[in-house]
Amino acid sequence: MTSPDLYTAWRVHEKNGGYEGAEEACSISDLPENDVLIRVTHSSLNYKDALSASGNKGVTRSYPHTPGIDAAGEVVESRRGPAAGEQVIVTGYDLGMNTPGGFGQYIRVPADWCVPMPPGWDAGKAMVYGTAGLTAGLCVEKLLKMGAAAGQGRAVVTGASGSVGSVAVEILSKIGFEVAAVSGKVDQAEPLRQLGASEVVGREVLEPSKKPLLKPGFANAVDTVGGAPLAELLKQISPGGSVSCCGLAGGTQVETTVLPFILRGVNLLGVDSVEIPIAEKKGVWEKLAGQWACPGVEKTARVIGRRDLGDALKAFLKAESAGKIVLDHS
Ligand code: NDP
Repeated sequence: MTSPDLYTAWRVHEKNGGYEGAEEACSISDLPENDVLIRVTHSSLNYKDALSASGNKGVTRSYPHTPGIDAAGEVVESRRGPAAGEQVIVTGYDLGMNTPGGFGQYIRVPADWCVPMPPGWDAGKAMVYGTAGLTAGLCVEKLLKMGAAAGQGRAVVTGASGSVGSVAVEILSKIGFEVAAVSGKVDQAEPLRQLGASEVVGREVLEPSKKPLLKPGFANAVDTVGGAPLAELLKQISPGGSVSCCGLAGGTQVETTVLPFILRGVNLLGVDSVEIPIAEKKGVWEKLAGQWACPGVEKTARVIGRRDLGDALKAFLKAESAGKIVLDHS
């Protein structure tokens, strides 16, 4: 396949002190010098894309900028790594942060950022999962490595209706865990049960309390919220249990005592999906395409076009987003 000179991207500009995104024509020759040119057919929406699109300088330093930390499609030109014609997935590293990302129809990235498309998958399917699915898989993998097992008691997922949370709920329930989903959205209780949650509890369960320890209610956890709710969660983990911590939707500051750690041996496990070695990403992608496949999440994923991006990204910032959203460039 040969590439055209121009392509369309949803690009964010700094305007009158604010940030606005819109479709615009871009030139392939302006893409950064890198190994692999990819025709992106699909991307996936993430909280970090919403931050980039709204001018968060911790994510994107300068504008105009094309967000999209996830991309999947076909290699068009390659100097190294995957060959032209191969389907690949790219997530994380600098994609969509300060390197033009998956909200454009073309990206040019280092060969080491590309994961081969798992057999039986296409770009649309991969982007149902995206970084969020990968992160959920990494969270579950870390729990299992620390000895978490079905039968130890309830595993809890916070921010359960979100992109990461919904995949975590389905994977955990699929591999036999009894899953409690913590969600602030009453209308998401039934969808979360459909994904396999055995119960859905409100965020009140993680309301601040003065006590340094609470009755253990959960054996293990995937926490996508961080902040004060994470501190409360740690107080409720059973002895020897683990918490995979991947998110900051509820804040970055966690004020805790050492008591859950030294009296109950609770493990707080950090999960990064962005900068880890590509082999680790590949391992989890293969599981997501195999034994950890989430048909429930796949069925409920929403597909949008570039024109819907602005509203969909704003919903993330207002914590109103639910489930997975795929961007289809066609
Ligand atoms: P979403 O916005 O899709 O989901 C976050 C969910 O958290 C919301 O749907 C809501 O769920 C809950 N929530 C939001 N605000 C609050 C609050 N103030 N207090 C308590 N709960 C809240 O985001 P993602 O699932 O895509 O990402 C989740 C987090 O993980 C983000 O912080 C993101 O930056 C981070 N992340 C980290 C990665 C890594 O590599 N470590 C990779 C990907 C994401 P509900 O209404 O159901 O309670």
